Amino acid sequence: MKCNFADTLLQCYFDGELSGRAAAGFERHVQHCAHCATELVDLDLLRGSLQLTQLYKPAPASLRRTINAYIHPVAPSKAVSQPLLWHWLAAAAAMLLIGIVLWKASPGLRSDDYQAELAGEIVDAHVYSLLPGHLTSTSSNDEQDVKGWFKGKLTFALPIRDFANDGFALQGGRLDVVGERSVAVLVYARPEHLINVFIWPTRERDTSPRVGSRQDYQWIDWRKGKIEFCIVSDGPTADLQQLQRLFTK
Ligand SMILES: [Zn+2]
Repeated sequence: MKCNFADTLLQCYFDGELSGRAAAGFERHVQHCAHCATELVDLDLLRGSLQLTQLYKPAPASLRRTINAYIHPVAPSKAVSQPLLWHWLAAAAAMLLIGIVLWKASPGLRSDDYQAELAGEIVDAHVYSLLPGHLTSTSSNDEQDVKGWFKGKLTFALPIRDFANDGFALQGGRLDVVGERSVAVLVYARPEHLINVFIWPTRERDTSPRVGSRQDYQWIDWRKGKIEFCIVSDGPTADLQQLQRLFTK
């Protein structure tokens, strides 16, 4: 089955269009995704053959490191004997079963865990994006320009809208990695602060907006029409709520 990252981040990574954080997230993913690793090798071979033509551009050094790490993984220092391995596998299976039972029995806890983990990842991504040069891969106030940049990079219809007339001017967009997901990000500016809107496809049902805060940053998360949204900023919660209403209008 084709990997979601292959449809979204892979080509951007290969073309050097990802921010450092997203590139690092993708490289972690490639360590255990045979599909993406194979596609990267294919792209590298293609680029190698193009080296003979005038179209050649050198591949980034980080790509070679990633592919080498995949092709030559670190060998285990000591082989585990068969009976011991069997015991470990049985114990792991039992733990997994207990985990599934507990997980099924506690939907509330599950939702809270998800929110906490998501908030941590999203706030990290937001803070990183504020470092110079990491906010947007395409910088434009024009909806069509931003749409053009995302074309072919996503597996879902991204609702790209400029809300400048309502005080939220579109600044551009980028692709990012949050947890194990590739996500689209739209950036909006208020006079005092920047707002990141993280958007990705989901299979879960619609939810009403949930507001939270973490390390002086506010976030609002909701799902609508098989798309999940998470707005984050250090601005006042009222601003985030206003933008949330604009998105759902
Ligand atoms: Zn992959």
